[in-house]
Amino acid sequence: MIRARGLAVAFAAAGLLVALAPSLAASERQPAAAGARDEAAPRAAALPLTGIRIALDPGHQLGNHNFPTEINRPVPAGGFTKPCNTTGTATSSGYPESTFAFAVATGVKRRLEALGATVRMTRTSNSERLWGPCVNKRGAFGGSVGAVLEVSLHGDGSTRAGARGFHVIAPVSRAPWTDDIAVRSLRLAKALRYGLDQRNVPRSTYLAGGTGLVKRSDLGTLNLSDVPIAMIELGNMRNHQDAALMKSSDGRAVYASAVVLGIRTYLHR
Ligand SMILES: [Zn+2]
Repeated sequence: MIRARGLAVAFAAAGLLVALAPSLAASERQPAAAGARDEAAPRAAALPLTGIRIALDPGHQLGNHNFPTEINRPVPAGGFTKPCNTTGTATSSGYPESTFAFAVATGVKRRLEALGATVRMTRTSNSERLWGPCVNKRGAFGGSVGAVLEVSLHGDGSTRAGARGFHVIAPVSRAPWTDDIAVRSLRLAKALRYGLDQRNVPRSTYLAGGTGLVKRSDLGTLNLSDVPIAMIELGNMRNHQDAALMKSSDGRAVYASAVVLGIRTYLHR
């Protein structure tokens, strides 16, 4: 059943690749080109992420601020409760974190699908009329859809002067919540950092001591995952240099490409 569906997805992905090939970087195109020369196998089978299911969590829903009762409701967060969700941050000019994260996630999804992956997102729209999902659902999402990993995408909102750059967040190992996924999640976090480094996205200047990587135990999204998971604060939306990158489609393409490189690095594909 899964196998047959995987094959169908693979063929669909092959069609997508043809449609999207001109917009892909040469490095992303190369594996498919090599596979195309293999006449014995279906072309789709050569795509590097065929049969891989990936979960993406594109941060806060745009409409969260319109639903204070709903998003403030306490939900399980890993041995304690937290509000269902928050409103997220924005740039000084008002470009919302939710819109940024959704755009980057959509770019990541498109690239992963062109490489043969199946991608599921915790939210599939960016709307002022919607809210959630809550952090507990975001955390459990990857496991619930049979994904091999989950990446949660955010932008930070630090008002400290000169604070810019990305940091990746991995779960602390804490039984019975994250002890089963902590080692692999840290490896995923390091792979994502590698992808961001390779695409010249600057590391955080304001936390993590220049490592671009922190472990936290207070995030429901990380605590409730049953598959390897990492959260990325891709930049600081309050910093004008980061904000310029985040507001531009070229900048968002850099972030998306970096996340895809990180995922491929983690998967060795
Ligand atoms: Zn956020």
